[in-house]
Amino acid sequence: MSKFTRIPIRYQDPDKRIHNFDEVCLGYTPEEAVAEAKRCIQCKNPNCVSICPVKIDIPGFIKEIANEDFEKAARILNEYSSLPAVCGRVCPQEDQCEKTCILGRKGDSIAIGKLERFAADYAIENGIRFSNKARSNGHKVAVIGSGPAGISCAGELLKKGYEVKIFEALHKPGGVLVYGIPEFRLPSEKIVSAEIENLKDMGAEIETNVVVGRTITLKDIFEEGYEAIFIGSGAGLPLFLDIPGVNLNGVFSANEYLTRNNLMNAFKEEADTPIKLGKRVAVIGGGNVAMDAARTAKRLGSDVYVIYRRTKDELPARDEEIENAIEEGINFKFLTNPIEILGDKEGRVKAVLCEKMELRGEDSSGRKFPVKVEDSQFAFEVDVVIMALGTTPNPLIASTAEELEIDDKNRIITLNDRGETSKEGVFAGGDTVTGSATVILAMGAGKDGAKAIDKYIKKQQKELA
Ligand SMILES: Cc1cc2nc3c(=O)[nH]c(=O)nc-3n(C[C@H](O)[C@H](O)[C@H](O)COP(=O)(O)OP(=O)(O)OC[C@H]3O[C@@H](n4cnc5c(N)ncnc54)[C@H](O)[C@@H]3O)c2cc1C
Repeated sequence: MSKFTRIPIRYQDPDKRIHNFDEVCLGYTPEEAVAEAKRCIQCKNPNCVSICPVKIDIPGFIKEIANEDFEKAARILNEYSSLPAVCGRVCPQEDQCEKTCILGRKGDSIAIGKLERFAADYAIENGIRFSNKARSNGHKVAVIGSGPAGISCAGELLKKGYEVKIFEALHKPGGVLVYGIPEFRLPSEKIVSAEIENLKDMGAEIETNVVVGRTITLKDIFEEGYEAIFIGSGAGLPLFLDIPGVNLNGVFSANEYLTRNNLMNAFKEEADTPIKLGKRVAVIGGGNVAMDAARTAKRLGSDVYVIYRRTKDELPARDEEIENAIEEGINFKFLTNPIEILGDKEGRVKAVLCEKMELRGEDSSGRKFPVKVEDSQFAFEVDVVIMALGTTPNPLIASTAEELEIDDKNRIITLNDRGETSKEGVFAGGDTVTGSATVILAMGAGKDGAKAIDKYIKKQQKELA
């Protein structure tokens, strides 16, 4: 095989995988990983590193895979990232590190994500843990939320010797990695739990079922002796289309649909809160969340239609997820805009009224915008509608904390790229600051927050001395 051709990766057969929740991508074997790693030309000034929000030594870990020292490769990853097995699966590498790979100019870029996944999985499968905890420095920091931002912030603080406690609202830590992204893309027990165990080994205390803003407030946390707080509470409030019929029985937010399925096992017959299984399901939206909801509904036995206002070229979901969805038989209704959800006499969804769209011109960001085609309305029969139109942060924490400012979209306002907020000693990062974004950006923000907290506490000490 030529130096410019990527070693192909194996996937579960589409006809089989639509009947199970097992992981779709099967990953590289050691032989395949070594062959792919050997394609890396070890650039002196690697662009893949500069573009990575957590600055992983990409050539370094790939070199170790090529040398067949998989443990060392995993160790290098762990120095930079608290969640390498997660990032290897869900990061949009095609738009980041892999996009800058020099080999991509003449052929296929290096499969950086799949190699990251390989090395991280090697450590998990062989029970290798990396506890980089430093000796305690006696200072306590609280982290709110156990998603990628909170995990990454906690991991960095533990490495610096801080005593860290994470307060998590749900009964299981992991944030969107556990309640949002489905098993077939990110196995939660095998991968997410293993990464969280690593964090606990490093000394993190995690208290679940604590809703900050309701169970306790920021003031209570400071009174318990924590010197700084990092808020990584994500963006969990779903947005709905403002159209008639959204309150009908059978309309879900993608968040609720996925959470019920992922966290409460709604797909199992014995589940306490079974999900309504539609015969024909319409998913409205075109991002990763829409693909996850559509593919979940397919696995639950429904015929699934993704309704999107633009065309395939504009779909914001990752290419791999779109291709996987198409292979799995998800139907796409492009250039289609829902304007009403129609119900039957009992108040159950029976159809979506749509209109056709066409793309005209470009907006200021260069994105084509959809305009309705006159007299093009049609009703499309479905019995379940899932809205995957984005989310905003929940204003609960800010509403119970003096001086913590948020903007008109409920996002916590940070004063600089270190995550300082308007409230003394309180830092924030991830989706709660940016609105719904990506795992790696949330991790980068968590890391930056940890650095800023370290600096803040050291400065406080100097002033006291
Ligand atoms: C279905 C889905 C698929 C996605 N797919 C991808 C993908 O393929 N690639 C990618 O890069 N990104 C993806 N994303 C986006 C990505 O998951 C998020 O950007 C990322 O998880 C944000 O991390 P976070 O730590 O800021 O927030 P979250 O992961 O949302 O974690 C926040 C945590 O804070 C907790 N919390 C909230 N409020 C409180 C409170 N008051 N008190 C205590 N705890 C609280 C929440 O329960 C949660 O556990 C996806 C998102 C969804 C929903």
